[in-house]
Amino acid sequence: MAVPPLIGITCAHDILADRYFVALSYVNAVSAAGGAPVLLPSIGTDTLRAYDFVDGLVLTGGNDVDPVHFGEEPLPGNGEVTPDRDVFELELTRWCLDTGKPILAICRGAQVLNIAAGGDIYQDIYTQVPGVLKHVQQAPRWYPSHGVHLEPGSRLDGIYQGGLSRVNSFHHQAVRRLGAGFKVCATSADGVIEGIESTSHPFAVGVQWHPEAMWQRIPLHLNLFSAFIASIGKCKAAGAVDA
Ligand code: MN
Repeated sequence: MAVPPLIGITCAHDILADRYFVALSYVNAVSAAGGAPVLLPSIGTDTLRAYDFVDGLVLTGGNDVDPVHFGEEPLPGNGEVTPDRDVFELELTRWCLDTGKPILAICRGAQVLNIAAGGDIYQDIYTQVPGVLKHVQQAPRWYPSHGVHLEPGSRLDGIYQGGLSRVNSFHHQAVRRLGAGFKVCATSADGVIEGIESTSHPFAVGVQWHPEAMWQRIPLHLNLFSAFIASIGKCKAAGAVDA
C-alpha cells in the first residue's frame, strides 16, 4: 500500500491535568498493522465532520460512560465520567456507523459502540452480575487473566483463526442489551459479554480486552488491527467510505 490509511484514535481526557492523551500502545499497534495514526481530541458535534478525512476509527479505553446516555441514573458503582468525550465519541460513532467507516472499539470503546447503536451497558458488573469473575486483573497488562469463548463462525473468531482462549481484563462495565444490528461474538465463563460485532456494517467490532497491550507478547492479537485496516481497503473499493 503506497499511502497508509489514516486511522483516527480517540483521546482520553485527564480533566484535572487539563490534558488529552492516548497510550502509546494504541499508536504502536495501528502503526504495526500498516495504518497511520491520527489522534482525535474531542470537538463539538457541530464541527465533527471535519474528521471525515480519517479512513477508520479506533475507540479507545478510558473512563466510564455517563449512564444518562442510556437512560439511567448513576449507580454508586459508576466511576468518573468525562462528559465532553462521551458526547463526542457517541456522535462520531453514530456517524461512522451511518457512513460505513470501519470501527475498532476497545474496552470503553466497545461500550460506546453498543450505546451508539442504541444498546446499553452494566454500570458495574461487580454489583450487577451474580457470580461475576475478576475483570480488573492484578497482573501485567499483556497477561491474559481470564478465559473467553469466541462464537464459532463469527467475524471475530475468524480474525483470531479460532485460536483465542484467554484475554486480559481491565473493566468493571460491560455490554448488557445489544444495540441494533449487533451480535455477541465473545463471552467469558460468567456470561459477561466480551465482544460484539455488527452483522451489516463493513467493519464494526468491539472487544472488552486490550489487544493493543497484548500483541507484542502474543502476536495473534495484531490480527485484529490488521483485519480492521484491511477492511478499509475493501470499503474504499466498494465505495462505502464516501457514502
Ligand atoms: Mn473481562
